[in-house]
Amino acid sequence: MPQPWSKPLEVDRLSRGAAALDFDVELTQLPRLSSRAEVIGGSVHGTVRFARKSGRAVADVTLEGAARLTCQRCMQPMTLPLSAHVQVALLSSADEASTLEDAFEPVLAPEGRISVAELIEEEVLLSLPIVPMHVEDGQCPSSGAQSATGDAPADAVTQRPFARLGELLNQK
Ligand SMILES: [Zn+2]
Repeated sequence: MPQPWSKPLEVDRLSRGAAALDFDVELTQLPRLSSRAEVIGGSVHGTVRFARKSGRAVADVTLEGAARLTCQRCMQPMTLPLSAHVQVALLSSADEASTLEDAFEPVLAPEGRISVAELIEEEVLLSLPIVPMHVEDGQCPSSGAQSATGDAPADAVTQRPFARLGELLNQK
């Protein structure tokens, strides 16, 4: 049975109704995250609030949680805190991106549909370091240690949500 966060949502209807949807998603259940071998667990929870702005469907997305990653230096598990707040404009085609206000990140909702999973997946992907490692001052657990409690610093979280999609849209 499909999870509620995996269902395509009707953006127009939800934005007109100012719907708010709570989610709690295991990271390994998100397709694009599960394809990254260093993502071994963790989850995010938060809320998507739909609204209308200048006749357009927008969504306010907040998420918090943590990713369990394999440190690429010591190959032990590590935890990366995740916290993000982004306002997105839901576009049915990339052509609409040129008329966007700066405060909104463009997100494509083909045929007016997008799932909560698609909304948060990009955000989480952009928050992950390219090469996850325990904090840089050499805090990998010594070999054989099983505690593996080292956490990456919170400021490793990127402040550029949806940057990759923005680049794609600008390539026209
Ligand atoms: Zn390490």
